[in-house]
Amino acid sequence: MDEEFLLLNPGPVRVSRAVLEAMAEPMVSHRSAAFGETYARAQAGLEYVFEHSALDGSRTSAGGTTLVLNGTATMAMEAAVSNLVDPGDEVVSLVNGKFGERFADIAGRYADCTPVAVDWGEPFDLDAVAAAITDETALVTMVHNETSTGLLNPVEAVGELAAAHDARFVVDGVTSLGGDEFLVDDWGVDVAVTDAQKALAAPPGLSAMYLADHALDAIDGDRGPYYHDLDWHVRKAADGQTPFTSAVPLFRAMAAAVDAIREEGMADRIARHRRYAAAVRAGVTAFGLDPFPTLGPGSAYSNTVTAVALPEPLVDDAGAFFDAVAERNVSIAGGQAHLGGRIFRVANMGELSAEDVLRGVRTVGDALGDAGVDAPVDDGVAAAEAELSD
Ligand code: PLP
Repeated sequence: MDEEFLLLNPGPVRVSRAVLEAMAEPMVSHRSAAFGETYARAQAGLEYVFEHSALDGSRTSAGGTTLVLNGTATMAMEAAVSNLVDPGDEVVSLVNGKFGERFADIAGRYADCTPVAVDWGEPFDLDAVAAAITDETALVTMVHNETSTGLLNPVEAVGELAAAHDARFVVDGVTSLGGDEFLVDDWGVDVAVTDAQKALAAPPGLSAMYLADHALDAIDGDRGPYYHDLDWHVRKAADGQTPFTSAVPLFRAMAAAVDAIREEGMADRIARHRRYAAAVRAGVTAFGLDPFPTLGPGSAYSNTVTAVALPEPLVDDAGAFFDAVAERNVSIAGGQAHLGGRIFRVANMGELSAEDVLRGVRTVGDALGDAGVDAPVDDGVAAAEAELSD
């Protein structure tokens, strides 16, 4: 096994040398001017991501407030919900995968949550969503890119429904922001959250949040958990600080990661992620496999993580397949919860080249063969290559 380790999991992802080195700098106080500069750099880079995630390079938001937060995206999801609702408020949470379900669970702890659920990997029934959101709805939550199923959900359509009833709209852009389009204003998103260790290509431990001005107006510091009082976070962010001790090395790594995103430019970055995902899809399709999610109105296959149904002989018996992938020094993901033994997932986020993507595709094909499923490996790699050269 002499080839470099290739991490194709949907987070954490491979990060650049510059990001790794940023974490090794001597420690400073989180109240120092030096840290303030780091915070401001990370914040400005994230603001660029939140406000420029369009394939045509246009600006996607007239401006809002960007926060960099200690803690992963689950914390940010909880902070968003808990700062926007009071006990007894009605929340509608869209669920078609693990992370949509998590949002509903969180909402249920702080308010009265009505989940609008379909099977994991199925598209939402927008009529059912429309029926669930009423003038009584205080908040709607949804996941844009459902990492557990590889389905990209129709945020715009749901945003219109939320806006029609004057409900606030909180969206998980954890595996889309930094790698795919995310049109904050056009989609009517009030609060967007994302994670460091996904398409931003930073190490795990931080998350980021974007608050549109009218969402900010609703956050008064009177509700929500103490640590995640967003009013306090916003005030401290103005001084380049977090309310409590910042994870200094992680903020430095985030600053380096978003510097690289600005250098690449979001439009090119989105196009690259789309090429990579198309290549993975073409490769596995040529192997005779099927994408796991089912598409519906406004939904699409994910451009950052491809979820593939395990072929019949490997359902609930895929150990040899996953071992054969690992033997090639490559890491991919299986299914979560009840999708364990039914799917595998290949992500294309992080510091990856086209060659890495091709290696991932070839590895899947070779591993299928080792596990007794005949796959035309060269055909799959050629199909992937064709997408990469488009
Ligand atoms: N939302 C989505 C779509 C995710 O993919 C993940 C993690 O994979 C999360 C939320 C939660 O992230 P974390 O475990 O970093 O809190």
